[in-house]
Amino acid sequence: MLKLHVLASGSKGNAAIVENAATGAGMLIDCGICKRDFLERCDEAGFDPARIDAMLITHEHGDHTKGLGVVLRGLAKLGCAPTVYVNQACIDASSALQKVAGDCAILPLSSGQRAIEAAGLRAFPFATSHDAAASFGFRIEAPDGDALGYITDSGIV
Ligand SMILES: [Zn+2]
Repeated sequence: MLKLHVLASGSKGNAAIVENAATGAGMLIDCGICKRDFLERCDEAGFDPARIDAMLITHEHGDHTKGLGVVLRGLAKLGCAPTVYVNQACIDASSALQKVAGDCAILPLSSGQRAIEAAGLRAFPFATSHDAAASFGFRIEAPDGDALGYITDSGIV
């Protein structure tokens, strides 16, 4: 079963965790909030931040990426080093992403690629319409067949 924890949503910052309820591990989608807010909202959601297994970046806009570096450094102190999945065009267009690229494991993300496997879940990226260098939504599946779709900042459907 999946649990969706929306930590923040809106122009001031976006971040959400998709949790594998069977294991307590999860994927973080976007990180446009500061470390303090991230940790506080994980606590409120009853999610252990050290169980973040991967970070998926929908697109490079600051309200989705500006907290990435500080949150990654905070997670490192908890012994947690998630792989970051992001499209190369987004890295090229974002100094925030370029700054973290040297400090963590980054793997490419693109529409139609094979599933991203992390936290015991499978995430399938698909392209969305938005005024970003590249922009993606995700279908995320749990082993028991539970699934959800996550889309943010969609322009034209
Ligand atoms: Zn945006």
